[in-house]
Amino acid sequence: MIELKTPASIDAMYETGQVVAGALTAVRKSADVGVSLLELNEVAHDALRAAGASSPFLGYRPSFAPTPFPAVLCTSVNDAIVHGIPTGHRLRDGDLVSVDFGAQLGGWAGDSALSFVVGTPRPADLRLIETAERALAAGIGAAVVGNRIGDIAHAIGTVCREAGLGIPQDFGGHGIGRRMHEDPSVPNEGRPGRGLRLRAGLVLAIEPMVIGGGTDGYHVDPDGWTLRTDDGSRAAHAEHTVAITEDGPRILTAR
Ligand code: MG
Ligand code: MG
Repeated sequence: MIELKTPASIDAMYETGQVVAGALTAVRKSADVGVSLLELNEVAHDALRAAGASSPFLGYRPSFAPTPFPAVLCTSVNDAIVHGIPTGHRLRDGDLVSVDFGAQLGGWAGDSALSFVVGTPRPADLRLIETAERALAAGIGAAVVGNRIGDIAHAIGTVCREAGLGIPQDFGGHGIGRRMHEDPSVPNEGRPGRGLRLRAGLVLAIEPMVIGGGTDGYHVDPDGWTLRTDDGSRAAHAEHTVAITEDGPRILTAR
């Protein structure tokens, strides 16, 4: 079922989105060589507590997962694509880190992600991150009344493929509202002019994931959660929660 949100509900979702944005900014500032992934999770958890918000990630158990997710933040390093579980691993110089974070506040969910490098970046990693962000911007640009889900998917996929990047299939964006994951699903590649027609009040989490090696293959770690590239190359992830309005797309998790 697809629930269209009223303008007042979208304003409320913006409040949740800003908690997500603030937490990700704090995580980004804290991340450095020598800092552990669990410490980043603690920074995110502190931001949730300060806002009186709760975590839609903690204890989350979708059908593919063997165990409930044990943290409030996903931390995916280097060849990990998404859903990485924070551990005591300490970041090393040049690590490419993707962090994904959600909050639940006032009955509404928010979901956003970004990638960055700690220490000295490799130029290829910066290009990978820049392309993920450009794909996200292209997807958001297509999130307008009258377009279809396929137009968003096509916009994202075109940017990624033109850059020679791989796109993990089976994972992508989603509707979001009272719950973090709602219908419809928003693929990161697809045919324009196909799928659900976009209407004002539809709120979507749009989230390109890109594989630097250019192949689409991935596997899941023995932890049952972490998606990792098959070719061993690095991956990047970018995500915003976006409301489709009569005035155009509104980024609710804008930082
Ligand atoms: Mg997310
Ligand atoms: Mg999401």
